[in-house]
Amino acid sequence: MTQTTPNHKLSVSGWAAHDSNGVITPYTFKRRVNGADDVSIKILYCGICHTDIHHVKNDWGITRYPVVPGHEITGLITEVGSNVKGFKIGDRVGVGCLAASCLECEFCKGSEENYCEQIQFTYNGIFWDGSITYGGYSEMLVADHRYVVHVPESLPMDAAAPLLCAGITVYSPMIDSKLHESTGKRIGIVGLGGLGHVAIKFGKAFGHHVSVISTSPSKEKEAREHLGAEDFIISTDPKQMRSKRRTLDFILDTVSAPHSLGPILDLLKVNGTLVLVGAPDKPVELPSFPLIFGKRVVKGSMTGGMKETQEMLNFCGKHNITCDIETVTTDNINEALDRLAKNDVKYRFVINIAGKNSSP
Ligand code: NAP
Ligand code: ZN
Repeated sequence: MTQTTPNHKLSVSGWAAHDSNGVITPYTFKRRVNGADDVSIKILYCGICHTDIHHVKNDWGITRYPVVPGHEITGLITEVGSNVKGFKIGDRVGVGCLAASCLECEFCKGSEENYCEQIQFTYNGIFWDGSITYGGYSEMLVADHRYVVHVPESLPMDAAAPLLCAGITVYSPMIDSKLHESTGKRIGIVGLGGLGHVAIKFGKAFGHHVSVISTSPSKEKEAREHLGAEDFIISTDPKQMRSKRRTLDFILDTVSAPHSLGPILDLLKVNGTLVLVGAPDKPVELPSFPLIFGKRVVKGSMTGGMKETQEMLNFCGKHNITCDIETVTTDNINEALDRLAKNDVKYRFVINIAGKNSSP
């Protein structure tokens, strides 16, 4: 249980990695007490994003140990600060990647806080008060209300949790590329994992023809029959890749490991766009010929703003879009991380933080 300690910090139970071995163990740490702009949240569920693996293993060389991962959080509000409007005790809410931003720059003012130069993340970041942020592998969270969203009543809290990162990360570049404004485009999703499977669902909901570009033949049947993908291209088969040259208008690349963009770019029509959201620890290869011969564009995208995150959740509520999840207990986090690293999950692990009987 949460207690107030003499220095007015909250003592919170969670799960942390302590070095680049990446092994997660129970960890008690301090959070700030609920401030005027904050809400406190009893965490029910937290998704396991591949970014959590990059952090616990220090793939990107930026981890501050001990790290309490988790930025796909759903839970219930237990306390509301005096300046907070729009949230009340008991509300079903979500927290994603963002914990703080400057609130003043053009990006913060333009609902794109995710591109603020002073952005701080839900874990492994530094909050305004100088404290290190700890994420959702923990029993409760204190969050500034500007980085909290409502989870629509129609969405289950467990299968909605990964929408807070995986969902918004693929939704945002699709909206940016105006895929919601017309139907019948041919779009490709590279990598059928946590991000990729939600991207297929959005692509279908927007009315497009969806091709999966995958290294895993074993995922084809389900991708077609269950997720509704129209085509499944094995990226390691040069013949298949050649036969699909110049067929796609838009590609979203969600791959977590280093790879070449060349063969993928060849799948795009002239003027097509490839958006990279996967964040491998080493540079991806970007050969110039497939770029210049097809006047193609490569760009990146980093999660999404808070307004867009709420819009995405509302869209999911309306269209019944949830994630395909395998729920794990807090005792099985290490096993889940190992299986995720081995590409053995369909398609997202979600930790049942509060235990079996505590979800609404
Ligand atoms: P995930 O569930 O592990 O999915 C990644 C998929 O990439 C795998 O399912 C696999 O799909 C494919 N893949 C894995 N290793 C590969 C390899 N060696 N070569 C080719 N394909 C490979 O991971 P995720 O949670 O979706 O995250 C994906 C990436 O996005 C991570 O790097 C993560 O850090 C990053 N990310 C970025 C943002 C952002 O804001 N831009 C947000 C969240 C996550 P197939 O089996 O179909 O090949
Ligand atoms: Zn994530």
